[in-house]
Amino acid sequence: MPSTKIIECCDLCGEGFQYGPVAYFGTYVLTYQVMACNRCFAANADGWASHLEAKVTRSLKAKSMRIPERNTKGLLPRDGF
Ligand SMILES: [Zn+2]
Repeated sequence: MPSTKIIECCDLCGEGFQYGPVAYFGTYVLTYQVMACNRCFAANADGWASHLEAKVTRSLKAKSMRIPERNTKGLLPRDGF
């Protein structure tokens, strides 16, 4: 069966990346309801860099949902805890 690559757009850097089938070069970050490419996701393991906060929280703010507490480094935790 032929498979067509699914291309998603990173909500943080704007780059496109393959998101299946078989290969996934990004993550849907459920807590923030954003797509993140592997590069952005890996680069922010300690918490979302402050210059990305507006993009990271856009979906939550649009839906008036709670934004996670900051971690001990003063950053929004990448996975929400
Ligand atoms: Zn990215």
